Amino acid sequence: MRPLIAGNWKMHGSLAEAASLAGAVRAGAAGAPAAELLVCPPFPYVHLVASQGGAGLAVGAQDCHAAAKGAHTGDVAAPMLKDIGATYVILGHSERRADHAESDAKVRAKAEAALAAGLIPIVCVGESEAQRLAGEAEAVVTAQLDGSLPDGFAAASGVVAYEPVWAIGTGRTPTEPDIAAIHAAIRANLVRRFGKPGETLRILYGGSVKPGNAKAILALPHVDGALVGGASLVATDFLAIAAAA
Ligand code: 13P
Repeated sequence: MRPLIAGNWKMHGSLAEAASLAGAVRAGAAGAPAAELLVCPPFPYVHLVASQGGAGLAVGAQDCHAAAKGAHTGDVAAPMLKDIGATYVILGHSERRADHAESDAKVRAKAEAALAAGLIPIVCVGESEAQRLAGEAEAVVTAQLDGSLPDGFAAASGVVAYEPVWAIGTGRTPTEPDIAAIHAAIRANLVRRFGKPGETLRILYGGSVKPGNAKAILALPHVDGALVGGASLVATDFLAIAAAA
């Protein structure tokens, strides 16, 4: 399957920086034709980046509300994101699970809203360092998948991102066998849940992906792309990761 290299810009940048970063990624996208490229700017910049024009770069958001509309001050609905040109939405990122107390049930409800709006959800799962050290990584990830993925996930080509919390922004990553083991467990979970369509859903790795480690990580079985944080803020780094796919 075609790998997906997704940039999660998190809460970084200005309007001008968003325009120039997306422009630089677009300009370089032709150099990495093997991969599908996606950037997920902060909400205020999604429309600008999506309306820049030019093929070769998909645009997503970093969250959405579980309701399609209503009295939810400060929130953003999935149909609004679709309306302004987003095609993907990241859901259940560990930073949202921590900052906003998002449970698996909440993530699942948001993913259902995304599907109803025609957005492809990228549902994030991953263990904490304490859970990893206690040997619980696979069990934690399996429970998150069971609780967070909606029934329509496979039919909509939903994406899972495995992001060990302790690898995010730290420069540390699991060993290659450890990444491969969790991705194999996620694949088994998807096939158990969704049957044959689960075999071809994309499973991204995220957590300190850099140009220097991308090739080795992306070559692992059942690693179908990357969800990139810090390195996605530098166009040349993001494109180098894409070129490694
Ligand atoms: P870093 O690539 O900065 O570790 O962030 C990963 C991440 O959280 C992407 O969603």
